[in-house]
Amino acid sequence: MRRQKREVKVGNVVLGGNHPVAVQTMLNVPARDVEGNVRQAVQVAEAGCQILRFSVPTLEDVRLIPAIKQAVDIPLVADIHFDYRIALECVAAGIDKVRINPGNIGDDSRVRQVVQACRAKNIPIRIGVNAGSLEKEVLAKYGAPVPEALVESAMYHVRLLEKHDFNDIVISIKSSNVPTMMQAYRLLSDQCDYPLHVGVTEAGTYRMGLIKSGMGIGGLLLEGIGDTLRVSLTDEPVKEVQAGFDILRAAGHAVGGPEIISCPTCGRTNIAVAAIADEVEKRLQGYKKPVKVAVMGCIVNGPGEAREADIGIAGGKDEALLFIRGEKVRMLRGDIVGQLVDEVYKL
Ligand code: SF4
Repeated sequence: MRRQKREVKVGNVVLGGNHPVAVQTMLNVPARDVEGNVRQAVQVAEAGCQILRFSVPTLEDVRLIPAIKQAVDIPLVADIHFDYRIALECVAAGIDKVRINPGNIGDDSRVRQVVQACRAKNIPIRIGVNAGSLEKEVLAKYGAPVPEALVESAMYHVRLLEKHDFNDIVISIKSSNVPTMMQAYRLLSDQCDYPLHVGVTEAGTYRMGLIKSGMGIGGLLLEGIGDTLRVSLTDEPVKEVQAGFDILRAAGHAVGGPEIISCPTCGRTNIAVAAIADEVEKRLQGYKKPVKVAVMGCIVNGPGEAREADIGIAGGKDEALLFIRGEKVRMLRGDIVGQLVDEVYKL
């Protein structure tokens, strides 16, 4: 059961309530390279990214906002550290959300200015707490970045905004340690009704990053926690977007597009399952409707093992049995992948 959170609007995407969990990523091109950022923004938007964040380290980099806005039609988030003037400029330039920790920008008058600017344009603020950058006092109190310390830090920043009656807040509370991150989100979710941006920070390179994110983000989603997610990978942002949707799918969320179910293969395997599954996945990349497509290695067990698939093939000798919603349809010979993909489009 999804934990109900207050609704917060980020551009044309609503977080919280029963709204779909939004997939985000962050650009990783140097901020000074406007063209490179725009190019990457277009790539991730084409991959289905629903909220897009990028760093705005200096006032000059605010120029990224109009440039990216012109190229893609998804809400943009400016990632700002320490300098409240950059936040003000980003708001003026049309940003849709600001990620800034109010406790890091100086005195209360600065916080008030940022809050006023955001409020005037209905722009939410994301507070992002990371295990690696906890306040000295919090760290001293707990001795280590334990879940309780992360929550205390997040609530400290939250209160600085609430003091100004500002509640258009989204919170993240990340750690690279999966059990810590999961427990921190659970505690935080019990304490407030702000939508949560879930993720494992510094999750690592592709392989380990996928595993940690699948466990951490996926585990929380199964507990009903999480309103938007980012998979952090030391890799291309497009892969983060794809992984985000795959985690949502695996957690049972309604996500459009194909889900490939393929068997691990064994001594009974009759066809090149891995190559066929890869090729089917590639050819169905632009397919938008939700569909489960199975590629199974043998006729004896395949259709049964892929019972939950909408459509699939099971390998015979130089041929494959096509089955649709559990019913055997016909044998495919020759271009098996091509025929299977055609059948998916006919569904
Ligand atoms: S579907 Fe057939 S080939 Fe694939 S793992 Fe199962 S028994 Fe083996």
